[in-house]
Amino acid sequence: YKAELKTLVDAESVSTDGKKTLLVANIGSPNDLEAVKANGAEGVGLFRTEFLYMENDDLPTEEQQFEVYKEVLENVNGPVVVRTLDIGGDKKLPALPLPEEMNPFLGVRAIRLCLQRKDIFRVQLRALLRASVYGELHIMFPMIATLGEFREAKGVLMEEKEKLIAEGVKVADKIEVGIMIEIPAAAVLADQFAKEVDFFSIGTNDLIQYTFAADRMSSTINYLYQPFNPAIIRLVKNVIEASHKEGKWTGMCGEMAGEAKAAPLLLGLGLDEFSMSATSILAQRKRIRGLSYEECKTLANKCADECATMEEVVDLVSESTGL
Ligand code: PEP
Ligand code: MG
Repeated sequence: YKAELKTLVDAESVSTDGKKTLLVANIGSPNDLEAVKANGAEGVGLFRTEFLYMENDDLPTEEQQFEVYKEVLENVNGPVVVRTLDIGGDKKLPALPLPEEMNPFLGVRAIRLCLQRKDIFRVQLRALLRASVYGELHIMFPMIATLGEFREAKGVLMEEKEKLIAEGVKVADKIEVGIMIEIPAAAVLADQFAKEVDFFSIGTNDLIQYTFAADRMSSTINYLYQPFNPAIIRLVKNVIEASHKEGKWTGMCGEMAGEAKAAPLLLGLGLDEFSMSATSILAQRKRIRGLSYEECKTLANKCADECATMEEVVDLVSESTGL
């Protein structure tokens, strides 16, 4: 089976009836680049940049960050989606003690922190903009709940871009700017967001946590981690449809994107890009290459429109596809 998967390293991620998708990797540092190549990733769908901030006692400098982003962009053939700092919640930052909060996952994390500490945010954005000429950079903001947050974050990005250009620094003309969809408010209002962003990437790890109001770290209520609950399928469907109506694209970078039973559902809903740990890519590519998009579309819509429970969705997918 492993040898068979290896033959798919250079294969397209395409359904039996010709629907093309992109299978890309989640990475946490340049150490993961080797696995990206070895597993035939068509790009990077999520570069989590937290390691830069968590490894040291000091905040990373613009220069340190620039070198890392440049290395990643130079070594990936295809788009690279870099997510700006997503610290807070479970992830602590040694160089910046956060306020003690009753519910850290509902508190100052990710873009909320960056908008409060624009000094830190600007350093990362400058490093990214400077690195943009070395590859196909996309910039993604995490934990966006409102359009106001997106506009403010993008405004800061544009300010830094203009400053760099005024300083005579080269910046790529075309950098796509998108958001993670991981807060239900943004998933519900995706049609409005789609007018202003270049792309969405659905972060199911948090989207499920916030939709079911169930801490993703808790083992006592982990039955509420339900990627196949129709509530989640409907949110995902809404986001993909909203993006396509505006000519934009949607990816998924949460764990769900690599799950076997999710392949037919997400293909059927029209997901454009699946991002997962590199080691899951070849198996997911093999599944997609064995599926008919038209059949999956019927299946996915049935799951979204007619199923009441996660179990019904899982059974329907199993019966229809054998997965
Ligand atoms: C997610 O929430 O699904 C996601 C990809 O981000 P993280 O797991 O880093 O919160
Ligand atoms: Mg998340």
